[in-house]
Amino acid sequence: MIEEVFFISSENKQLRADGRAYDELRPIKIKAGVLKRADGSAYVEVGGNKILASVYGPRETYIRRLLKPNTGVIKVRYNMAPFSVDDRKRPGPDRRSNEISKIAADALRPALMLESFPRSMVDISIEIIEAEGGTRCAGITAAAVALADAGIPMRDIPVGCAAGKMNGDIVLDLSEKEDKEGQADVPIVILPRTGEITLLQADGKLTEEEFEEALDLAMEGCMRISKIQEEALKERYNVNG
Ligand code: UDP
Repeated sequence: MIEEVFFISSENKQLRADGRAYDELRPIKIKAGVLKRADGSAYVEVGGNKILASVYGPRETYIRRLLKPNTGVIKVRYNMAPFSVDDRKRPGPDRRSNEISKIAADALRPALMLESFPRSMVDISIEIIEAEGGTRCAGITAAAVALADAGIPMRDIPVGCAAGKMNGDIVLDLSEKEDKEGQADVPIVILPRTGEITLLQADGKLTEEEFEEALDLAMEGCMRISKIQEEALKERYNVNG
């Protein structure tokens, strides 16, 4: 039985299983300021991913040992809802979510002017409501908008996107199917103003040339998503006068 039909695009590259061109992002929606009680929030859809990010703070933390006298600190919690994936996910933290929480904090921190709120903490929560591949990038993109919505002083708005290898081609923004069946995945987060990379992971096998191509493509994807982040924040600003 033939499960997938591939078409040839105008650029002579095979279209992907979901019909996208090699350099096409999944449909994206970003909305800032969706929660009343959080200091900042954002809802993001990237393809089938549905993600809610919220920010609380800066505030004095009850965990005194985490406070620093000259700078603020951030804490990120990435969490996948049990119903967000095909096979029910066991609730609570695990190795994968702890790792993503840590790399998300590392990817966001360089954009934040933490020195402007010493002895305080910003809590960032990334809730994956539905997952369809690329949740770490989409989650960090959402958290960045939530941080801006919270009015946290920022040098730039981090943005994430992945590129990878599927059927021998370097493609942008892997779906869950491509993530599972493909040969490599390169998720990145950048600060779009300077192009500084704050997260770079590579899973799978790529030649040096393929890696460069994936990196360039992921960068381009980030720049496109960055515009949508900006639009979401402008819309939020206009709505609230
Ligand atoms: N996934 C899943 N169950 C899990 C973890 C992940 O079904 O417990 C799916 C989910 O769609 C996720 C994808 O596998 O987006 C890829 O996961 P990965 O660990 O590569 O992280 P991501 O690409 O989401 O950043």
